[in-house]
Amino acid sequence: MSIDLSRELKKEQNKNVSDYINKVLSLIEKEEINEEEAGWITKETVDGFREHVNPGFLSYRKTVTKDGQFAAVEWSDNGSCFKDVNGKEYIDCLGGFGIYNVGHRNPKVVKAVTDQLKRQALHSQDLLDPLRAMLAKILADITPGDLKYAFFTNSGTESVEAALKLAKMYSERTTFISTTRAFHGKSLGSLSGTAKGMFRKPFLPLIPGFRHVPFGDIDMMRKTFEVCSSVGEDVAAVILEPIQGEGGIILPPENYLKEVRELCDQFGALLIFDEVQTGMGRTGKMFAADLYEVVPDIICLAKAFGGGVMPAGAIVAKEEVFKSWFENPFMHTTTFGGNPLACAAAIATIGVLIEEKLPERAAEVGEYFLEELKKAAKGHEDKVLEIRGKGLMIGIEFHKDEIGYDVSKGMFDLGVLVAGTLINSKTIRIEPSLTIRYEEVDKVVSTFKQVLSQVSV
Ligand SMILES: *Cc1c(COP(=O)(O)O)cnc(C)c1O
Repeated sequence: MSIDLSRELKKEQNKNVSDYINKVLSLIEKEEINEEEAGWITKETVDGFREHVNPGFLSYRKTVTKDGQFAAVEWSDNGSCFKDVNGKEYIDCLGGFGIYNVGHRNPKVVKAVTDQLKRQALHSQDLLDPLRAMLAKILADITPGDLKYAFFTNSGTESVEAALKLAKMYSERTTFISTTRAFHGKSLGSLSGTAKGMFRKPFLPLIPGFRHVPFGDIDMMRKTFEVCSSVGEDVAAVILEPIQGEGGIILPPENYLKEVRELCDQFGALLIFDEVQTGMGRTGKMFAADLYEVVPDIICLAKAFGGGVMPAGAIVAKEEVFKSWFENPFMHTTTFGGNPLACAAAIATIGVLIEEKLPERAAEVGEYFLEELKKAAKGHEDKVLEIRGKGLMIGIEFHKDEIGYDVSKGMFDLGVLVAGTLINSKTIRIEPSLTIRYEEVDKVVSTFKQVLSQVSV
């Protein structure tokens, strides 16, 4: 009896789940939603976050009010903008922390992905998949120096994991030097390179052999190399972001990266550039390595690599290094990395970057943006400490987190999304599409100026 009853209940539940699924699918299918549907989506989203995703997200984000009376829920995007369910448009200057280099849903990228999808989505895992080979060849062409062989991943973290494993295998050494304020991801391996204590502490010990030195301090880097070598723990590789993103848009001192390269050569260590955020035109060159004229041994890519349409990442390495994986290519693998949809997206993305000269555009628009922001901050030295950046990777540093949070919240209310959460707003990052129009830049700057005069110190 009780068994039958629970079976009946289960059936009823399954019917409810099916109805719910069908309702969601019908909304996905719609080109336009009405007010009632928008209300339903908002309620389901907030409830779902509270009950099933993580209620913590509702309290830190500037897009949700403290009492939960208002929550912005995104629904569609295009160009440098996206819209919430109520149809309010925002200029996206957060850009997913640098994923929308070719814009939101760039038509050429969407076309390549949908064309590929109509024929084949994922690969057999055994036959040779053509787009992987073609994308690898394109990467060898566009990456600096003699970087030649590519391994594909689904994210930045995975690219870092692959780079660390390759460096270990090649060097047969286990020591890594990373930098303070670095961000390389949050998996156990990549987290070892990441610097923020708050994210690392609960998971210690991480991979043994990681040492952090202050970013930009070449003397400390040299001393660390010397110490490691003298105690018999030779360095496998140095991993760093040429320009630190998550750390707050920290530019390297003059010649720093060249000197790091020299130290690596002197001590027989590899140099890994984590260009997950700086790559794909962001800083005004295709890669920040080009900007600083330094060729790493391994470069890590992701974020904008999939054109803001597909999750996709890669490492590209010199043959001398990568050949450690020739004998057994199964030493490091991933089921979805380099799948045909991701490759189609990446190939189209690189095409757009080159044809539309987007790295050059990032340099030009970025310079204008930076100057205008600096002008707008004149007279607010009590609030703004520094504005800095390269290309369209710009950071506004405030004296306090609270000021940054108030500015980013104020700008959001006026239709401009910039980075900055309740617990991380000392430097707000501006990383729009490289296709952003000058009128949009002007709107962002005037919004910044207006909000800056309204917030209190
Ligand atoms: C975002 C980021 C990562 C992690 O990438 P995910 O795709 O989030 O795993 C790693 N390194 C850098 C420099 C990043 O900016």
